[in-house]
Amino acid sequence: MLLIECPWCGKRAQTEFTYEGDATVKRPEDGDQAAFHAYVHLRENVTQWHDEMWQHTAGCRRFFKACRNVTTHEIIATAKPKGDLPDMSSGKITS
Ligand SMILES: [Zn+2]
Repeated sequence: MLLIECPWCGKRAQTEFTYEGDATVKRPEDGDQAAFHAYVHLRENVTQWHDEMWQHTAGCRRFFKACRNVTTHEIIATAKPKGDLPDMSSGKITS
């Protein structure tokens, strides 16, 4: 069973959490329909490390970010929503 570390509650079983989506997208300004279409519908098909939003639905119900390898499901870091995750764009830990 996968253990996920909630920034507030500590490590808990995966069954307590819900995946909430891509943490790398940012909502565009109102009025730009092409940018809004891309924000809602277009995602990269990531094969390695990905920053994701999760919710501790069976615990504190708070949202947080997790850096997860989508191939191995390894989670190397979690952070509060405005916190920073390590830069894994090169495939290696850099911070
Ligand atoms: Zn929690």
